[in-house]
Amino acid sequence: MRVLLLGSGGREHALAWKIAQSSALEELFIAPGNAGTKNHGKNVDIKPSDFPAIKKFVLENEIEIVIVGPEDPLVLGIHDFFLNDDELKHIGVVGPQQHAAQLEGSKDFAKEFMKRHHIPTAKYETFTKDTLEKGYAFLESMSAPYVLKADGLAAGKGVLILHALDEAKKELKNMLADAKFGAASSKVVIEQFLSGIELSVFVITDGESYKILPEAKDYKRIGEGDKGLNTGGMGAVSPVPFADATFMDKVENQIIIPTIKGLKQDNIPYKGFIFFGLINVKNEPFVIEYNCRMGDPETEVVIPRLKSDLLDLFEGVVTNTLSERDIQFDERSVATVMMVSGGYPEEYEKGKQIFGLNSITNSIVFHAGTTSDGPAVMSAGGRVLAVTSYGKNLDSALEKSYASIDNIEFEKAYYRKDIGFDVV
Ligand code: ATP
Repeated sequence: MRVLLLGSGGREHALAWKIAQSSALEELFIAPGNAGTKNHGKNVDIKPSDFPAIKKFVLENEIEIVIVGPEDPLVLGIHDFFLNDDELKHIGVVGPQQHAAQLEGSKDFAKEFMKRHHIPTAKYETFTKDTLEKGYAFLESMSAPYVLKADGLAAGKGVLILHALDEAKKELKNMLADAKFGAASSKVVIEQFLSGIELSVFVITDGESYKILPEAKDYKRIGEGDKGLNTGGMGAVSPVPFADATFMDKVENQIIIPTIKGLKQDNIPYKGFIFFGLINVKNEPFVIEYNCRMGDPETEVVIPRLKSDLLDLFEGVVTNTLSERDIQFDERSVATVMMVSGGYPEEYEKGKQIFGLNSITNSIVFHAGTTSDGPAVMSAGGRVLAVTSYGKNLDSALEKSYASIDNIEFEKAYYRKDIGFDVV
């Protein structure tokens, strides 16, 4: 099969690594990719949001299936763009259409969906500039901490958790009346605070049947003990020890099945990954958020645990034959530790040469933000490398990743030394 994968992060490197192992692969292209993905296919210099350039490339290179890594092209409607174009509509796209991508693109849409289909989630109400006073009253009816969420995509910064009522009111006004997050905060969801441990569960679906992938836990904060600023993710582990069979049965029956059925009932076709951001509250799962694509860095631990052929699963998704496909998992644990640029997630420098990559034998180094400069690999983003290892348990997987990191160097590199601290 001739495959085009869109994206340039660690998630896409992990997907490219796995797709390249498929016996069904004829040629893999990654747009735009990074210095790591080019070991598994050909990088092409096209932005995932440049639909006309993607069309030209797809036709010229006889692409048969397009895998969409990040959310932006999905929310912008790349799948619809293919379906509405006579020359492209026969080409399979893995990633939902724009309507379904609203599960990630609009928190209000996602919450309405969950309410309609009785999927456990925090109680909430949605407000606009015109209902600001009602928003204040709703906050007064709740107890601290207060959770305020910009409705639209805000680069992971649109959720505020506040401890004082007057602060929550002030921020609500900032978001609604003063457009703190631009158009993304023209609606704000206020919801009940849930206390528990978070985890991520992933499903791949053709809209009819689904397969559950291994679950994962990521570490979002820059500092050890999960303190400090939010990042794209500083590391991840899989499996998650508390996600035992009883808990995962609840996840499947109370959350996954009602979601797949709900999409069908609402006539929302869905082909691709669904990422369930969950919280375990006293052994009961609740949905914090949906994402319409795989997570990063979770992909870097989930995909290595997949034994089956990923391209075969993708073929099942685009031909509505997922139920006939086999899925098997590696029993080993996998951990990934993210090496980031000094200063990240605030201002940081790029363009630092990375040394030691060729000496790594016990880990897989997925590139998150890198470019090539001749034979040299240079940093090109905040999150630079996801150092990933297998182990008989999480402890040994983490130990291998940290040992590998000791042999990788770039100026001002930083990583958390406590990934998995709460679960090993
Ligand atoms: P992400 O960066 O994961 O894409 P997002 O901006 O889409 O985040 P959410 O995932 O909805 O927003 O919320 C971000 C974080 O805020 C969650 O991972 C969780 O830690 C916290 N959070 C959100 N909602 C709640 C809640 N109701 N109770 C407690 N914590 C919450």
